Amino acid sequence: MRVVDYLRISLIDRCNFNCLYCMPEGAEIDYILKQNLLRDEELLALIRDVFIPVGFRRFRFTGGEPLLRKGVVELVRRVSAFPETQDLAMTTNGFLLAPMAEDLYRAGLRRINISLDSLNPDTFDLIAGKQGRSRWPQVWAGIQAAHRAGFDPLKLNVVVIPGVNDSEVLDLAALTVDRHWHVRFIEFMPIGNSQMFAGCGWVPSAELRQKIRDAMGLVESRVTGAGPADVFQIPGALGTLGFISQMSECFCDRCNRMRLSADGWLRPCLLNETGQLDLKTALRAGASPAELREKVRQLLAIKPEINFKQRDSGTATGTYTRTMSQIGG
Ligand code: SAM
Ligand code: SF4
Repeated sequence: MRVVDYLRISLIDRCNFNCLYCMPEGAEIDYILKQNLLRDEELLALIRDVFIPVGFRRFRFTGGEPLLRKGVVELVRRVSAFPETQDLAMTTNGFLLAPMAEDLYRAGLRRINISLDSLNPDTFDLIAGKQGRSRWPQVWAGIQAAHRAGFDPLKLNVVVIPGVNDSEVLDLAALTVDRHWHVRFIEFMPIGNSQMFAGCGWVPSAELRQKIRDAMGLVESRVTGAGPADVFQIPGALGTLGFISQMSECFCDRCNRMRLSADGWLRPCLLNETGQLDLKTALRAGASPAELREKVRQLLAIKPEINFKQRDSGTATGTYTRTMSQIGG
């Protein structure tokens, strides 16, 4: 039976980038007011007294950009110190990572996913938005610092966008040949970017695999993750290639996660808000841990009936208007 034991925690909905596919510049976003963000103590209490007792064991900090959250290293230290925590990971754009990588590792973070959509600084800036100097060198320095600090696996996330970075797929895949890195190609999703999506569409993972297979060979990897990626390898490569195909395949029946937004909403699915819980308001109104646990258990019980597909039949509420940075990708 599928066990839902993985919680993705958005630490903040703000970001220092404006990725075209996530929060394009000028997008009207209702940012969470500071007083509505879960405070550190509230988040830690929810993890310790609610999520761990109902069975969550694996946690990932995401955002927005999680490294913008003040005190993030201390949060890592405290969550990794819970004896029940089996895994603590982070997804970041890497821009602030270089000076923090070692502290994060020492605090107990062991797995990190860094978004890297291009090896070409101009293309990178086109995607992530530019502020004066190119931001690519600083992100690359963050990746190198994470590598030196000992993060393993070190995963690089690539959202493939036709006409923008799809021509770089072979170069990005080649990063895994002599490095113990995992490059994961993610199908572009229409979340908060409908205009762009309508203009350029998306590339199915099967097409990418064929391209890589033809050029470099590709075999199924013996390393398979518990997550949504199908994992392959270039023959003889040290690292692996993952393909996350949420557009071309439905992997809802293997979904083992829930999502906690920075303002304390617990969502059962990326694209479907059915049954979502406002834990922060309940907590601040004085709900006891036992009451909150009961609410979370009830949501866990209906989770198998909730999936991506329902967004199309109108049972999900307004999900598409939110950006990935708000949901906590
Ligand atoms: N800021 C961090 C980062 O970029 O890694 C963490 C948050 S971001 C929302 C988490 C992941 O969602 C990133 O890997 C990003 O590439 C992915 N993402 C954002 N928008 C997406 C979209 N429209 N389609 C597919 N993936 C998307
Ligand atoms: Fe920021 Fe990550 Fe979204 Fe890019 S993908 S805008 S880095 S939250």
